[in-house]
Amino acid sequence: MDELDRTARALDAEHAATDLRARFELPPDVVYLDGNSLGPLARGVGDAVARVVEQEWGRGLVGSWNDAGWWEAPLRVGDRIGRLVGAAPGQVAVGDSTSVRLYQSLHAAAALRPGRRTVLADPSSFPTDLYVLASVARQVGWQIALLSPDDVPARLSGSDDVAAVVLSHVDYRTGRLWDLPGVTAAAHAAGAVTVWDLCHSAGAVPVDLDEHGVDLAVGCTYKYLNGGPGAPAFGYVAHRHQDAFANVLAGWTGHADPFAMSGTYVPAPGVARARVGTPPILSLAALDAALVVLDDVDVRAVRRRSSSLTAFLRACLEALVPGTRFASPADDDRRGSQVSVRHDEAWGIVRALAARGVVGDHRPGIARLGVGAPYLTHADMLTAARTFEAVLAGGEHRAAEHRVRPTVT
Ligand SMILES: *Cc1c(COP(=O)(O)O)cnc(C)c1O
Repeated sequence: MDELDRTARALDAEHAATDLRARFELPPDVVYLDGNSLGPLARGVGDAVARVVEQEWGRGLVGSWNDAGWWEAPLRVGDRIGRLVGAAPGQVAVGDSTSVRLYQSLHAAAALRPGRRTVLADPSSFPTDLYVLASVARQVGWQIALLSPDDVPARLSGSDDVAAVVLSHVDYRTGRLWDLPGVTAAAHAAGAVTVWDLCHSAGAVPVDLDEHGVDLAVGCTYKYLNGGPGAPAFGYVAHRHQDAFANVLAGWTGHADPFAMSGTYVPAPGVARARVGTPPILSLAALDAALVVLDDVDVRAVRRRSSSLTAFLRACLEALVPGTRFASPADDDRRGSQVSVRHDEAWGIVRALAARGVVGDHRPGIARLGVGAPYLTHADMLTAARTFEAVLAGGEHRAAEHRVRPTVT
C-alpha cells in the first residue's frame, strides 16, 4: 500500500457519514464517472415503477389520475427538487425536456422585460441552450451578446437594454462553477432577469435559488438527480414572477380549470401555469423514487464530499500522470462536481478507460470524469487515476477498436 492508498483510506474514513453507495444499484466492478450524463439506478426505483405500472395503472386505470396523485405529480416532485436547489415549495414544475423548459423560460423572461433588446449568454454554453436561445431571440427580437460569465457584471454595469442573462451554473465541459449570486445581483442592478441552467449543479452543488433572488431556472433530472434516462426536466419560477409568467406553450394542464374544457386559455395560479401537457407518469415515478434516496441528504454535505473527491482525483492524476492538462479549475470553490482533462486523444482514452471499468465520457478534446459524490469514494478516485495511467502507459487509447464512434458519446 502506498501513500495514495493511505490517503484515500483516511479520506474515506473522514467522509464515511456521507457514503451513500448502498442506496444505489451500481455494478461492483465499475467506477462510474458519468453520473453527470446519466445518474445510476437508485435502490427502490425499480419497485416503485413496477408498483405504478401494475397497481396504479394496471388496476387503478384512469382513476389513478385522482386516486394515486398523478395529476399533482409535476408539482409534488417539483417541491422535492426544490429542496435540493434552495426553492421553497410552490416554485418548481416538472415535465418536458430541458430544451422545452428553456424555450418556455426565455419567452417568459422576454415578457417580463418588454422593450429591452439584449440578452447575454456564454458562447461555451451547452449547444441546446444556444440553439434554443437563437430561436427565441428571432421570435422576440433580441440581440444576443456572447461573453464569458466572468465578464457579465462589467457588461451589465450602466446598461439599460439587457432583458435577460442566460447562463449555466456549471459549465458542462470544464466543470467551471460560475458566480450565481454575483451575476444575479449584477443583472438585477441593471434591471435584467436571470435564467440559470442547473443541469450540472442540481443535486451536486448548493444553488440557493430563493436566497439569491434568481428569477427563472431550468434543469435536467437524469444527471445528479438520478431520475433515469429521459427523466423530465424542471422549471423554477420565483413566487414574485408567477402572476406575470407568460407561458408560451400555453397547454391545457396549465389552465386554471383544465376540466372545464374551455376554449379560452386562463393560466392557473402559481407555478402550475408553467405546466404544458400530460405529465409522463412512469418517468415521474422513477424520478420521485430516485429523489427519495436524497430526502435526508443536505446538498451542502454532498458538496463537501464532492469537493474532497474531485480534489483528490486531481491530486492522484497529477501524481500518476505527470503533465495532465486539467480543464477544470484547481480552486475547489470554482469547480463543480467533475474533473475534465484535455487531451488530443480524449476519445480513445475514454473508450479504453471504459474497457477497464472506469466509465467517463468524451466531449470534443476533453475526457470528462463526473463525480456523483453520494456513491463514489476516494478509493474509486485512485482507481480511476491508476487506470488512466495504465491506459496511457500501454497505449491502449490508440487501439483500433477504440476508434469506432457510436451515436452517443
Ligand atoms: C444535459 C444538458 C441539457 C440537456 O437538455 P435536454 O433537453 O434535456 O436534452 C441542456 N443543457 C445543459 C447545460 C445540459 O448539461
